[in-house]
Amino acid sequence: METKIVCSVCDNNEFNILQLLWPGLINDWQLSPREAEYINRQQGQCCTRCGANLRSIALAKAMLNVLGVNAPLLALASSKPPTRILELNEAGSLTPVLRHFPNHVLAKYPEVDIHKMPYADGSFDIVLHSDTLEHVENPVHGLKECRRVLSPGGALCYTVPIVVGRMSRNRAGLSGSYHGGSGVGANDLLVHTEYGADAWTQVIEAGFSQVTLTAVDYPAAIAITARG
Ligand SMILES: [Zn+2]
Repeated sequence: METKIVCSVCDNNEFNILQLLWPGLINDWQLSPREAEYINRQQGQCCTRCGANLRSIALAKAMLNVLGVNAPLLALASSKPPTRILELNEAGSLTPVLRHFPNHVLAKYPEVDIHKMPYADGSFDIVLHSDTLEHVENPVHGLKECRRVLSPGGALCYTVPIVVGRMSRNRAGLSGSYHGGSGVGANDLLVHTEYGADAWTQVIEAGFSQVTLTAVDYPAAIAITARG
């Protein structure tokens, strides 16, 4: 039975599916046809109204869970809550919605590097990033930085592409793999880590004490929430 997906950004339930994965990437990642299908939908299944893809929807849902809000993100944003949000590198397609939060900061690489962020300890209630950590040289260090800038009781919500049927691997020693489109090859988009079922362990290694997974049409999109 097919589960009906509802967009946690705008409450719409109609989607288009774009084919975004290309043969070179599928080959580099050694994805099975089923894995390629669900990873593609994580990136390319988009809400027909607001444009959010499944990973953005999972991320929005994780954030709404943290805030204990049972309404779409757009409705929450329109009430202009004081939540201090740090968004790193445009979290999926959520930026236009997050801008409505009066205490929203958008920080982009290379001006702001997740390894060393220019913010005081405890500056934010929520830190968000989406498909950033797989490009970070030292992801555990990056997660520690996210924890440092969170207030006590704050939460980090993020996505990485997760292939659930395998363990994570570092691409060091493998041929360079890049996201961002076929043949882009920019070093900024170099993938350091291919995440698998153990993706959550880095959260604990970074010093957080709790991990929650928020799934949208599992295994197509999973957002990780880290607290404590
Ligand atoms: Zn939507």
